[in-house]
Amino acid sequence: MVEEMQKIMRLLLFFSLVLLGACSNESTGVEKSDGKIMVTTTIGQIADGVKNIGGDKVEVISLMGPGTDPHLYKATQGDIEKLEKADIIFYNGLHLEGKVLDVLKKINDKKPTYAIGEVISEGSLLEDTEDSSAVDPHIWFDISLWQQALEKVRDGLIEIDPDNEEYYSKNADDYFSELDRLKEYAEEEMAKIPSEQRVLVTAHDAFGYFGAAYNMEVMGLQGLSTESEYGLGDVQELVDLLVERNIKAVFIESSISERSINAVIEGAKQKGHEVTIGGELFSDAMGEEGTEEGTYIGMYRHNVKTITDSLQ
Ligand SMILES: [Zn+2]
Repeated sequence: MVEEMQKIMRLLLFFSLVLLGACSNESTGVEKSDGKIMVTTTIGQIADGVKNIGGDKVEVISLMGPGTDPHLYKATQGDIEKLEKADIIFYNGLHLEGKVLDVLKKINDKKPTYAIGEVISEGSLLEDTEDSSAVDPHIWFDISLWQQALEKVRDGLIEIDPDNEEYYSKNADDYFSELDRLKEYAEEEMAKIPSEQRVLVTAHDAFGYFGAAYNMEVMGLQGLSTESEYGLGDVQELVDLLVERNIKAVFIESSISERSINAVIEGAKQKGHEVTIGGELFSDAMGEEGTEEGTYIGMYRHNVKTITDSLQ
């Protein structure tokens, strides 16, 4: 009796091993045990787009959380593991994630890795005003360009999971309709700012596309990347401009220290010109997960509201 039981147990074990083997052979390396596609992204804006387009078919991990500056960000050992585990990777490119590029390039040979900003035609990209060989990577502030970039997310998911093509296409269409509504809202609101107040002063030049879209002049204390430190000359130049143009509000950014903008406010004060902080904008990083600002649409609306509230 005991012997028979043992025999049955051994048989059961044998069959379960065979079954396990069959399952993992069946997997193309794309689907994980829970059936979801593992997606790793760099910035939260991309992660949010992937969540909207991939829906319940994807598990998304973003390497850079709230308050993280992508220009300075270096990949940790944990990040490399997250990239290794991914089935597919999306990043912005256009040199936004300058210090993670080497890691991304290495992984590029092993699995589908897409720089979604690099699908945008050169003619639509803004040039770096200080270095004509570089382009402005902050494309998510132009809603139409961002939609083009997210089409690459949709296409990448379809390529890796063609069975669900219809699902991804439908989700993308729904999300793009929401983006159209966001664009209408932003255009309507931004148009309310009087012409003499249409100057947006921030810690770094993240808002070039935003300015171009809504006819705002944009000035940042630091250049397109936060890699270069701002100098005393930059502070002085911006102070002079605030005084000269009678600009009353400047904006801090959630991913950049307030120190630089405070130096400008202090400098203006010494010249007898009162400048206030118009509020905090989300530029390169989004808000906390679970909050309105933790989504692309929410952060965009927050920025529009913050800017229009203080410049009207
Ligand atoms: Zn930036």
